[in-house]
Amino acid sequence: MCLFCKIVNKEIPANIIAENDDFLAFHDINPKAPVHILAIPKCHVDSFIEVTAETMAGMTTFMQEVAKTVKIDKSGYRVITNIGENGGQEVKHLHFHILGGTKLAWGHFSDSDPKNNL
Ligand code: AMP
Ligand code: ZN
Repeated sequence: MCLFCKIVNKEIPANIIAENDDFLAFHDINPKAPVHILAIPKCHVDSFIEVTAETMAGMTTFMQEVAKTVKIDKSGYRVITNIGENGGQEVKHLHFHILGGTKLAWGHFSDSDPKNNL
């Protein structure tokens, strides 16, 4: 069973913010912003590549509610999902990073010159 499935099953503790039958949101253990939450589907999905539009519909509403709960909906925030090897995905259970609580930087994402890929 993967790490986030264990969190869903309460086999590993997490600082949970919101939960319903299908989704769970908890604080990232290694926050990269003042607010750094992970939102996941309870049913295991490897990554965004496999997720259905139906799950994404529920996920969208859930993440909007989470942002309101932690009061970053007015100030703004960022939603990120890392996908696979090049995306830098470490945990192979679909998760969305919800980052906020400050003005977020928009930095470089690659060591190589992006113009070379145009
Ligand atoms: P990613 O690199 O997109 O796969 O992100 C995985 C995220 O999971 C990282 O930001 C980690 O800090 C976070 N993480 C790993 N283990 C835990 C845990 N036990 N509880 C909360 N967050 C975790
Ligand atoms: Zn899982």
